[in-house]
Amino acid sequence: MNCIRKPLRIICWGFSLLVLSPFQDAIAHESIMKRAFIKSSSINPESEIAFKLSQDESASHIKSFCAQLATKFKQYQWEQDPCGQVNWQASFQTMGKNPLLYAVFGTGEEKTLLLSAVHPDELTPVPMGFRLAQHLRKNPQLIKPDQQVIIAPLVNPDGFLVAKPQRTNARGVDPNRNFFTLDWYEKSLSWWENLRKRSLPYFPGHFPNSEIETIFQVRLIDDFQPDKILSIHAPLGFLDYDGPGDQKSNTLSQTESRARELARVISKKSNNYRIVDYSFYPGSLGNFAGNERHIPTVTLELRTTDSKKVPEYWEQFLPGMLQAIDYPFRKEAEINKNTQKFYSQYDELNLRGKDHT
Ligand SMILES: [Zn+2]
Repeated sequence: MNCIRKPLRIICWGFSLLVLSPFQDAIAHESIMKRAFIKSSSINPESEIAFKLSQDESASHIKSFCAQLATKFKQYQWEQDPCGQVNWQASFQTMGKNPLLYAVFGTGEEKTLLLSAVHPDELTPVPMGFRLAQHLRKNPQLIKPDQQVIIAPLVNPDGFLVAKPQRTNARGVDPNRNFFTLDWYEKSLSWWENLRKRSLPYFPGHFPNSEIETIFQVRLIDDFQPDKILSIHAPLGFLDYDGPGDQKSNTLSQTESRARELARVISKKSNNYRIVDYSFYPGSLGNFAGNERHIPTVTLELRTTDSKKVPEYWEQFLPGMLQAIDYPFRKEAEINKNTQKFYSQYDELNLRGKDHT
């Protein structure tokens, strides 16, 4: 019987394999196709319109958003009215229908961009941009005629307006890993899978530039062409400079040396805060703006995420933030050439593609 059974089993297995394998192939094929054609909510100039806010809409959105913020700030015993009388603007809203706020001070040619709270779970950076905006509104003399300051105080509002603030946006993407840097496709997902062991808060997205929070920052950089950028995070406790220029001071051009000096002058005005040469990541702002576009980009890492430390940090870093605005630096014409508009490149590629088909 055994002799008979064994061949029968083999025949059965063979038969089932024969029958099942096309099905299994079909299932595998289907899942691959599903992944390949996943309904990507990648944002391109055409779909960007879904996140656009008209001027009429933005005024009412900003008002109710500021009221929500005030409630949230109360939880942390921060200021009662974070938005104050600042002339906030918003051209985009997030998935969670929160406006992406920014304010512009001055009309000069030398431009400083301040970005805050891209990672709202870090807490302490959240009030810093709002405070600086209110401070500049109350002290307009701080902005010289040749200067302009653009402040985006809460780059990731969806990550803040939840019960427990989170690093990612409403779609679970880290907006500081989602910039379209040259190494994104080669390194971003593999970096996340290997080094971060798929740690969800660091997910860079399925594609670069897939998130409105990233597009918002790219737009600010494209539209205003800042000469320098200051971005506020926590809790690493240092100032980090990301390009232009490599680490060896003897190979730096004069402009690069002056750009690097930005971190030093901010430190000097902030009780000699530690400066560290920290690495940048695929898809990060430092990589995108500092390294690739040669816009001097300094990250201010506050020391802790302790919400009670905000008054102390404000005292310590206000002079440094004002120094960042005041430090005279203009991008050279040569550097400007590298600051191409992302979308114009994108359109060009699109057009070229159409020519060939
Ligand atoms: Zn951060």
